[in-house]
Amino acid sequence: MRARTSQGRPADAAVARGAEALVDCIQRFHARGLCDGTGGNFSLVLEREPLQMLVTRSGSDKGRLGARDLVLVGADGRPCDLADGAPSNETPLHVAIAQATGAGAVLHTHSVWGTLVSEHFRSAGGFRIGGYEMIKGLAGVRSHEDAVFVPIVANLQDRVALATIVVGVLEAHRAARGLLVAGHGLYAWGRDLDEARRHVEVHEFLLQLAGRRLPLVRFEG
Ligand SMILES: [Zn+2]
Repeated sequence: MRARTSQGRPADAAVARGAEALVDCIQRFHARGLCDGTGGNFSLVLEREPLQMLVTRSGSDKGRLGARDLVLVGADGRPCDLADGAPSNETPLHVAIAQATGAGAVLHTHSVWGTLVSEHFRSAGGFRIGGYEMIKGLAGVRSHEDAVFVPIVANLQDRVALATIVVGVLEAHRAARGLLVAGHGLYAWGRDLDEARRHVEVHEFLLQLAGRRLPLVRFEG
């Protein structure tokens, strides 16, 4: 990531502050095993009109991540400076979610529990979970007696097509604060980085609860 001076771009200090906060968040997730290897990708909105966001570089090792591994992209998902290299190939999903929800940050993990649970409930298009105090950590949830629906979409390597499907799912589930891509991982978002991080933590907690309640899968082999 390079310093910015041109008009219309975020100030250098704002980019540096955002990059530091996003890298710190990713390092914490990596320490918890939520984005092993090159798994997961993460973004932070710096400007809304027009959209400009920091996104992790394609193929970046999340255990060795630094500000140099963040790429500033525009609303078309392309880098603002080609010299910065390629952003994650899942950037279309980050842009689509940020635009559809007004999120200030979009965080995508590849956890074991997210992968397992997304496969199990894939044919149902999602799963409902409630009755737990922890769901009050999701924006808009007031009581442990509430339930939340976590949508699941099929994985596609065509990320632009996948982003279009995700936008349709978000329109149908406006209360959702996260969704799963089957056999792949969790996307969660929030109005700012702190809220998005909290939404990842709560979803990962709920995914682990849901996963531990499942009967063991019989492995053929
Ligand atoms: Zn992914």
